[in-house]
Amino acid sequence: MPAQDTSATLQKYLSRAEKYAEEDPEGALNNLRKFWEVIVESLADEFEIERHPMKSTNDMFTSVRSRIPIRLGHYLEHIQRMGNFGSHWQGGIEPPTEDSLYCLWAATEVFQWRNPGPTEMPISSELEFIRVICDAVPCEYCNQGIGIECISGKGEQTGTDREHTVRKKEYAKYRRAFQKHYATTLVDCMHEMVADMNIQQGQFLTGNEIREWYDDKYPAYTETAINCHAYMMTTNLKTRLSHNLHDDREYDLFFSEDRKFRLYQPGIDPEPITHGTQ
Ligand SMILES: [Zn+2]
Repeated sequence: MPAQDTSATLQKYLSRAEKYAEEDPEGALNNLRKFWEVIVESLADEFEIERHPMKSTNDMFTSVRSRIPIRLGHYLEHIQRMGNFGSHWQGGIEPPTEDSLYCLWAATEVFQWRNPGPTEMPISSELEFIRVICDAVPCEYCNQGIGIECISGKGEQTGTDREHTVRKKEYAKYRRAFQKHYATTLVDCMHEMVADMNIQQGQFLTGNEIREWYDDKYPAYTETAINCHAYMMTTNLKTRLSHNLHDDREYDLFFSEDRKFRLYQPGIDPEPITHGTQ
C-alpha cells in the first residue's frame, strides 16, 4: 500500500476508535486492532522484512519491534494485547472505557510518530478530560466499574476523594496520559496564559485566576503542578531554587507582591534569584 493510502487507512481506524471509545470500548478496540495490523505490515514493508506465507502479522511484529523506538514498541504491544481481548473478551467482561481510551491515545502516539507534522491529533480536540475519578477509571480493588463509586468494607459508598488508593493511582495515570495530548508544556502554557488574558505591565494576577485559566484550558494539569510552576517562574521567590532552573529566560515571567503575581520587568525589578543571591 502506498504511504499516503496507509496513512488514510490508519486515520480511518483512529477516528472510528475515537467515535466508539466511550460508548462501545469493544468496538473501539477492534478498530485499534485493525490499525495495529496495518501499521505493523507497513513497517515490515518499510524495513524490508521478508513476508513468510506461514507467518502471521504477530510474528512480523517481533521483527518490527526490534527496529522501532522502545516506547512505541511498548504501545503497539499493548494495543495488540487489548485488541485480542477486544475480539475475544475474557469471561464475558466488557473492556473498560479506560482501556479503549488508553489504547486510542497510544495508537495516536504511534500514528504521530509515523506522520509527524502539524496535523491535529484526532484525539485532542474531541475528548474531554474527566474530572471525577470514578467517572474516569474503574476500581480494581472493590471491582466497581466506571461511573460507580468505590464501596467500603462495610458496603457503603466511600464518596469523592475517598476512593481506594489503587483507583487514585489509575486516575493519576489517566491524567498523565491526558496531559500528553496537550502539545505544550506547563511553562509554555504560563506564557500562553499571559497573552491570552492580555496581562499588562503592573497588572496583578491571583493564584486563583491562574488556576481558573488552566481549569478551563488545560484541566488535566494538577493544581499542585500549576502552583509550583507559577512560583518557579517568579523571579523573587525562593521556590525557583528547588527546581533545576534552565538558563533560558522563559522562567523569568512573574514578580510576586502581596501574594499576587505581576509581570517581571527586567531592568526595573531586582535580578532573578539564583543560588548566589543573598
Ligand atoms: Zn474501590
